[in-house]
Amino acid sequence: MIDLHVHTWRCRHAEGTAEEYVKSAAKRGVQVLAFTEHLPLSAELAARVPGAEGYAMPLEELPDYVEDVRRAAALGMELGVDVLLGIEVDAVPAGLTDAASLLGAYPFDIVLGAVHFIDDWAFDDPEHTERYTEWSIDDLWERYFSDLTTAARTGLVDVVAHIDLVKKFCFRPHGSLEALYSRTARALAQAQVAVEVNTAGLRKPCREIYPSQPLLAALRHAGVAVTIGSDAHCPEEVGAGMPEALATLREAGYRSALVFRNRQPQEVGLDDL
Ligand SMILES: [Zn+2]
Ligand SMILES: [Zn+2]
Repeated sequence: MIDLHVHTWRCRHAEGTAEEYVKSAAKRGVQVLAFTEHLPLSAELAARVPGAEGYAMPLEELPDYVEDVRRAAALGMELGVDVLLGIEVDAVPAGLTDAASLLGAYPFDIVLGAVHFIDDWAFDDPEHTERYTEWSIDDLWERYFSDLTTAARTGLVDVVAHIDLVKKFCFRPHGSLEALYSRTARALAQAQVAVEVNTAGLRKPCREIYPSQPLLAALRHAGVAVTIGSDAHCPEEVGAGMPEALATLREAGYRSALVFRNRQPQEVGLDDL
């Protein structure tokens, strides 16, 4: 089993130390575990978003995080868990100030790119769902996927995280999403990024893996590669939903997934996971 997306207490909205995650991974049969803590928010984004201090680790802790993962990797060697150093970046324009230099300062194995904010709104925060009423849901989805495509094209990220996060609280357009999905899938293929199959959606109100089956089918059709992650926010969630992730991938026609080391993709067969 592989799990290329987990958080620790450092982001201020998750629980558990890196070493606790490694112990949990060993117990649950996860052989490759990537820590992908939220990159400290840019000053520009932090100034704009209310409650920003609860969404990512403070800038001064980034070296400590890297050290946490180094220590966790040493424990992983003992327990048979291959530990990777990753990061999750808010790849919206206001989030990218200094991101390139921060990403270049450490030997990251994998960089996830995400859209958690639309302007000043943390639309995936359960505390701020009242703002969905300010939008036409069709417009919101168009805007979200447009921002996501822009994020994929930054050249800074290896993998697009939780690609249809906008469905989290079940605000869904009524019309067909086929055109939006195929346009997005083609753009991501062109940007040469992978997409993760993220099982956190199963634990959220939408009760569905990110991406949905029709979107995953469009990604497969466009030739977009995949990784797999739980987006665990506590040690008990490491490896959560992996049988469902594998079934979803097989249904869409995938035979393999990617693991990134030193930002380089390596293919692993689903049958070996
Ligand atoms: Zn995220
Ligand atoms: Zn995450």
